[in-house]
Amino acid sequence: MTAKAREVEKLVQRGLSDIRQAQSLEELERLRVTLLGRKGSLTAILRSLKDLPAEDRRQLGELANRGKQSLETALTEAGFALREAVSRQAALAEIDVTLPGRRLPRGRLHPLNRITAEICNIFLHLGFETVEGPEVELDYYNFEALNIPPDHPARDMQDTFYFNDQVLLRTHTSPMQIRIMEKRRPPVRIIAPGKVYRRDSDMTHSPMFHQVEGLLVDRQVTFANLKGVLTVFVHELFGPEVGLRFRPSYFPFTEPSAEIDIACVICRGQGCRVCKNTGWLEILGAGMVHPAVFEAVGYDPETYTGFAFGLGVERVAMLKYGIDDIRLFYENDLRFLRQF
Ligand SMILES: [Zn+2]
Repeated sequence: MTAKAREVEKLVQRGLSDIRQAQSLEELERLRVTLLGRKGSLTAILRSLKDLPAEDRRQLGELANRGKQSLETALTEAGFALREAVSRQAALAEIDVTLPGRRLPRGRLHPLNRITAEICNIFLHLGFETVEGPEVELDYYNFEALNIPPDHPARDMQDTFYFNDQVLLRTHTSPMQIRIMEKRRPPVRIIAPGKVYRRDSDMTHSPMFHQVEGLLVDRQVTFANLKGVLTVFVHELFGPEVGLRFRPSYFPFTEPSAEIDIACVICRGQGCRVCKNTGWLEILGAGMVHPAVFEAVGYDPETYTGFAFGLGVERVAMLKYGIDDIRLFYENDLRFLRQF
């Protein structure tokens, strides 16, 4: 190899090593000019070829051209890598680590589940335990054991979904009173939320809706206890300033029975469309457990007394949130549900 060839070799090797170590695009550009520019060192060698003898010219020309090619490739690759590093750094510089994170969309409780949980929680603090039971129920638990025999007129009041003579969709959560008392001895303090079904559908009625049932049985339970517990409950749910009244009523499975009204939350007792100008809204049905119910579950009515109550979750939610159409609860319209 001639001295000239060694010179080319060395020049290319040093050039490649410089390119690999280049730290910036400017440095890379300087190297390109120094090596391959119009006045570059390799350009000068290529230019001087014409003065050499033909044999040397061919050999050296080949060598110098290969060197030029590998230098160009190295420049392109190094430039690409450097540009990528630069844009990565720019992107990093744009990230403001002090910005709060993006909020993920959060689900929330359906208003009915929320009210149900609120109701159960109030009774939980009063010492009640939450229980659940079947929606497909036997006639015995839904009617007969609750002092509603087959020929009882109360059965006409409830348009029931029957599977057959004995099996139906429960029309209220009251069967849970029987199911629990059958299994336990007093004292009993339970709250039973759940779905119930009736053949009824309009702005304020749905064929499926939700009730919460309550039952307390012990020795020496009186109507005063019923009033005390339900007054605390209503004040917890609607606020301590809300007025309430107890009205005599009738249910087959309680005696005496009462309906509990609260002062209309819309007009504050002045009279409006919602309360039908009475100033009062019915909120709960309640009463002392009928002795016939105790007999059905084998409790001695001479020893034990108790009270039971029930309320409609939809009705409470409608009054609390000022909703006038029950169907909104079941349409799953996110614009409605997101308000809670
Ligand atoms: Zn009113």
